Amino acid sequence: MRSPRQGATYHGHVAEQRKRVLLAAPRGYCAGVDRAVIAVEKALDHYGAPVYVRKEIVHNKFVVETLAARGAVFVDDTDEVPEGARVVFSAHGVSPAVHAAAAVRSLKTIDATCPLVTKVHKEAVRFASDDYDILLIGHDGHEEVEGTYGEAPDHIQVVNSPDQVDEVTVRDPDKVIWISQTTLSVDETMETVRRLRERFPSLQDPPSDDICYATQNRQVAVKKLAPECDVVITVGSANSSNSVRLVEVALDAGARSSYRVDTAAEIDPAWFEGATTVGVTSGASVPEILVRDVLASLAELGYADVEEVRTATEDLMFSLPRELRSDLKAAGTPVTQPRRGRRTELTVEPV
Ligand code: SF4
Repeated sequence: MRSPRQGATYHGHVAEQRKRVLLAAPRGYCAGVDRAVIAVEKALDHYGAPVYVRKEIVHNKFVVETLAARGAVFVDDTDEVPEGARVVFSAHGVSPAVHAAAAVRSLKTIDATCPLVTKVHKEAVRFASDDYDILLIGHDGHEEVEGTYGEAPDHIQVVNSPDQVDEVTVRDPDKVIWISQTTLSVDETMETVRRLRERFPSLQDPPSDDICYATQNRQVAVKKLAPECDVVITVGSANSSNSVRLVEVALDAGARSSYRVDTAAEIDPAWFEGATTVGVTSGASVPEILVRDVLASLAELGYADVEEVRTATEDLMFSLPRELRSDLKAAGTPVTQPRRGRRTELTVEPV
């Protein structure tokens, strides 16, 4: 691939270099987000509005607004849901205390926790029952971290970043394991682990990667294109951990500048002053329609030439939450879910 800094000269002038977009693949919806969004859509179709959803079903403003327009009611906690009503738990997962609070109010729950988050919960439970000190690398206050922490608060401490490693204290340095939030920067997490291991050489690794396939794949793709880019645009919301990580990963990998936008409307033409190559990616909770809007805006700015940079192909899909599946089945409604990659946007129109 030609470097954006290479240019031909003619008539004593530097020829204008070809403006282009490098489009990361994989990008956008992961299997866990796809499943959670479809779960709310199908719940609305099957039970009718309102369907309550605890927290944002996925961290994307457009998705939340679109589902709200169809009758989903987003609440902060179960005590805002009327007794006996139906509530969907978000892809980020909830602690056992939230399940218990829902049971006290006789709520009918649909648990859309991503199976890869559930896997981390199970690790926490298992190592807590073996009396390990568990170091949960993740962002304090993030819903996923709250949910995992709540599985074993007596055994877990949250480590936010490499800089926090020195504050960690454990009961037995020979019985310590780290686990992590699913949507972190792989490189920063490995740095935190390296520093933790300096302090606790017997630190155990989790049985398998906690940073999920989708987070890793999106970071690998953006790392590949970033060194050639004057600007990288990540489509994703400010509260989307994996989207914010993509902005940082692009910069670390050599992009000259890196911005996050919720929608094309936030693009500032001043970002592209003198820019030849623009990278585009999107977080795991972002419908492809928002990326298409960004590409259309870039085309208007002269970046109409789009080249995809693919580093992996994804075909993972998860079945719908058990509670919903059995209700749909009982009603004779098909429970099949579109395969990942074929579904490119919400099935509902924004209003
Ligand atoms: S980003 Fe990963 S853990 Fe989170 S919902 Fe998607 S697949 Fe699941």
